[in-house]
Amino acid sequence: IRAGEAKVENLVSETKDGKSFHLMANIEFEAELPEVKNNGAAGIGLLRTESLLFGHRIRKSSEEQEVFYGHILEDSSGEVIIRLFDIGGDKNNSFSNKEANPFLGWRGIRLLLDEDKLLRNQLTAILKTAGKYPGRVKILVPMVSVMEEVQEIKAIIGGIQQQLEEEGEKVDKDIPIGVMVEVPSVAVSAFKFAQEVDFFSIGTNDLTQYTMAVDRGNERIYNLFQHYHPSVLQLIKTTIEGAKKAGITVSVCGELAADKIGAACVLGMGITDLSMVPRAIPKVKSLLSSRSMDDFAELAKAALDQCSARGVKEVFDEWHVPAI
Ligand code: PEP
Ligand code: MG
Repeated sequence: IRAGEAKVENLVSETKDGKSFHLMANIEFEAELPEVKNNGAAGIGLLRTESLLFGHRIRKSSEEQEVFYGHILEDSSGEVIIRLFDIGGDKNNSFSNKEANPFLGWRGIRLLLDEDKLLRNQLTAILKTAGKYPGRVKILVPMVSVMEEVQEIKAIIGGIQQQLEEEGEKVDKDIPIGVMVEVPSVAVSAFKFAQEVDFFSIGTNDLTQYTMAVDRGNERIYNLFQHYHPSVLQLIKTTIEGAKKAGITVSVCGELAADKIGAACVLGMGITDLSMVPRAIPKVKSLLSSRSMDDFAELAKAALDQCSARGVKEVFDEWHVPAI
């Protein structure tokens, strides 16, 4: 083990000038929990749940899902942001027949609102788990594109909470409900959406895909999948401004957060909560703790002023060269 490498988990999550940030983990399986711990994650910023439906002969029942969520909560610390099933798009989808444009189709919240039983089973399992671990669970809604989806899901969650209480279950009455900001319609109108939810999580993978009109899985046009593009960065900035104005928290959970300079840039825009694949945490932490907030803000400003992803990349490369 190289010197420094072993010590990074012990570094406090603070910039050089003492501003704290939180690095959390994106996971999907219980088997990833040791990695979450070993890399010093402050919590689980994105728990993907699609594995409960696919890869099994039979879909997991609500009770089985509850066992899964219980294990995750038991064997981790800090908050756990559970994302509702994000079925469709690139994710294995046994629910629909082929669609011409699956990424623009029946996906995420759109599908969940049509599949009442599937949604209720998952929410019941999550809400019962949250009752056992008050203050630790948050619910994240994927692929939101219009306000009505937010209003509908909130009403459904409220209804299930009430029913559980009537049945004598413990519930976490203030469980935060947030949305993924991954469709430009939400980013552009962030302030309006922010008034309806408790938090935002920016999914830069889909936000890039939908902003650049580039299928995230299509190798032929991969050069256009530019999460550094100033238009993507501008949408992130607009989202942060909307969230701050409404007084809600905002984090980033897409790949941009695992890219250490991308992380530095969003920190410079004002995002202090980042969630990423666990193994990326030490290198991101090491960079974010090596410079001060003014440096990050300067980096973000210079990046936003560019007119191409290539320009942003040049700004990033220059910034990253250690000062002699
Ligand atoms: C994203 O879109 O950036 C994201 C984190 O979600 P997923 O990659 O699971 O679509
Ligand atoms: Mg996504």
